[in-house]
Amino acid sequence: MNQEVVLGIDLGGTNTKAGLVDKNGKVLAFERFNTHAKEEFPIFLEHLSIVFNRISGPFKDQISIKGVGIGAPNVNFYTGNMERAHNFSWGEITPLAPAIHEKLNLPVVATNDANVAALGEMVFGIAREMKNFAVLTLGTGLGSGIVVDRKLLLGQDGLAGEMGHVNVRPDGRNCNCGLSGCLETYVSVTGIKRTVFKLMADRKVDSILRGYNYHELDGEMIAQAALDGDPIAKEAFTYTGNILGTKLADLVAYFNPEAVILTGGLTHARDLLLVPTQESMDARLFPAFRGKVRLLLSSVGGAHDAVLGAAALAWQHL
Ligand SMILES: [Zn+2]
Repeated sequence: MNQEVVLGIDLGGTNTKAGLVDKNGKVLAFERFNTHAKEEFPIFLEHLSIVFNRISGPFKDQISIKGVGIGAPNVNFYTGNMERAHNFSWGEITPLAPAIHEKLNLPVVATNDANVAALGEMVFGIAREMKNFAVLTLGTGLGSGIVVDRKLLLGQDGLAGEMGHVNVRPDGRNCNCGLSGCLETYVSVTGIKRTVFKLMADRKVDSILRGYNYHELDGEMIAQAALDGDPIAKEAFTYTGNILGTKLADLVAYFNPEAVILTGGLTHARDLLLVPTQESMDARLFPAFRGKVRLLLSSVGGAHDAVLGAAALAWQHL
C-alpha cells in the first residue's frame, strides 16, 4: 500500500518552503524557493507547480498525496483567500487555496502562518500535551495563533489572533497596516531595529551597531551584539521584552492559557528576550494567574519544521 503524505507549504514574503510530510511529521522531501511576492500571483503558482513535481516525482510510485496545507499571511480560513497582505503585490484579495487546488488538483486548506505555527506546536512540538496556549511568531512582523481546548481560535472570518496589531502606544510608530503604535512595530525583528536606531540617537554610549546602516542590520546581528554585552543591543532587548510582557499579561487575562510559546528570529537572543518579557508579564498579571503561565521557546524551529504546521493543518482538515 502506498504511504499517505500531505504537501505542507509555508508561504512567506521572501521565501516559500514546501515539503511532503507523513502522519508522524517525517519530512520525505523538501524545497525552498523564492516567493516572487512583488510579481504577479500566477508566477508563484507556476513555481509552486514545478517544485511540487520535482519533490514528489521520485516518490510517485510509493506515495499517495492526500492534500495540501498552507500557512500564509492574512489568510481567511473559510475562503482560502489572502486578504490585504501588505508585503505582496498580488492584489487586495488573492484566491490562494482555490488557485492551488486548481493548479495541483488536490484538496487545499489554508490559514494564517501564525495559526499554522500553533498547530505545528500542538501536533509535533512543545504543546503536544497542552489544551490552551498561544504561539507568537516574532519575525519580520509579529503573528499569533491561539488554541482553546485544542482547537484553533478562528473567529468570524478566520482572522482571529492578530496580536501584532493591538495598540501599545497611542499615536506611536507607523505600522505597515496603516495604523500607528501597533505591537509589531516594537516587538519584531523590524521593531527592534527601529528601537536600536532610536537608542543610538538618544544615548552617547559606544556600540558596535553604530557601524551599520538600517538596511544592513538584522535580528541576528542585534542578538549577537547583545550576547556579546553591547549596551545598546542589550537595552533594545530589555525595552522590547518589557512591551511584549505587558501585552502578554493582557493576552493571559483574555483566555487563561497554560503557556505562551515564542518563536521566530527575535528569539535567537533567548534569555535576553525571555527574562525581561517574563518579568514584565509577571508584574502585570492579574493575581489569579500568577505562577500559572509558562513562557517558553518553540521546540520546532529548523528549516524543515516550517512545513510541519502546514502539514498538521492538512492532516486535521482533509
Ligand atoms: Zn499594524
